[in-house]
Amino acid sequence: MTKDISLKAACADSFYYPQEWKPSRGSLDHFQRKRGFEHHFGKERTKNLSKGVLLIRFEMPFTVQCVRCGLYIHQGTRYNADKKKVGMYFSTPLYEFSMHCGNIVSPENSANGRAHCNQRLVIRTDPKNDDYELAEGLRRKVETWDNKDSETLELVDPETRRRMQADPMFRVEKTVRDMQQERNHKERLSDLQDLQAEREDTYGWNCVLRKAHRTRRKEEQRQEEEERRRGKPNFGVPLAPACEEDSLQAKSVEYKTDHDKMEVSVRRSSLMAQPVLEQGFHKKATRVAALVAKRKRLQQSSRMERCRKRVS
Ligand SMILES: [Zn+2]
Repeated sequence: MTKDISLKAACADSFYYPQEWKPSRGSLDHFQRKRGFEHHFGKERTKNLSKGVLLIRFEMPFTVQCVRCGLYIHQGTRYNADKKKVGMYFSTPLYEFSMHCGNIVSPENSANGRAHCNQRLVIRTDPKNDDYELAEGLRRKVETWDNKDSETLELVDPETRRRMQADPMFRVEKTVRDMQQERNHKERLSDLQDLQAEREDTYGWNCVLRKAHRTRRKEEQRQEEEERRRGKPNFGVPLAPACEEDSLQAKSVEYKTDHDKMEVSVRRSSLMAQPVLEQGFHKKATRVAALVAKRKRLQQSSRMERCRKRVS
């Protein structure tokens, strides 16, 4: 794509004569236009030639922003631009390219109250710095990134690059040194690979791994068996592992059972649970009498119990 654009730009400059063109095939403009290249300005191209202005297709060399409407004009965007020679830097001519921003905006924001922004954009070549100078209506979009973030190689730091440009001897030395370093790195890497291959013991590693796996599997099986024997727990709360402190605390507590009292309460509850009336009249009567007697005895015994406790 870029190649095509560059070729188109070269064709637009009219310094390029394609191999297929012959004078018998008409003018170069006519020929190129028929091939679909954008050299279609015709008479417009040289309209202001008397003022030293040639109409060309200009391609934005880097991403810039229009100062009026704030539109980002990306690298490779093409414009019809007036090309004009504005000076010399030693033997190199300085060119100025002027064009107009074509972004559609509201008339209040437009430079001349029209539908388009129409801000005049002027760029000059700057051979001194190998760059372009943004003369009017544009500001450069500064794109900075860290080589580590973009995961690319940092070739040389700016200071070294400057010294390499300034001092040919330093450049040669640095190149030779880098080559030597690279050779050393390669030799070291191959030595390390050999060493690793020599010391590699796949059988031993395999044995160790298999043994470790076997032990772990046996342990897992033992735990599963243990759980299976123990059965399901009675409640869903997982138990914390036993600890020394808890067992000591549990041992320190002593429970004492009052067996006499328990016996009395058991007897009383069993009697209370018995049905008071039974089938058959005489049976009933004897039963009631017996119950009354029992209750009396119980009441007496419980009273005596209480007295004994009070005394003791
Ligand atoms: Zn604009």
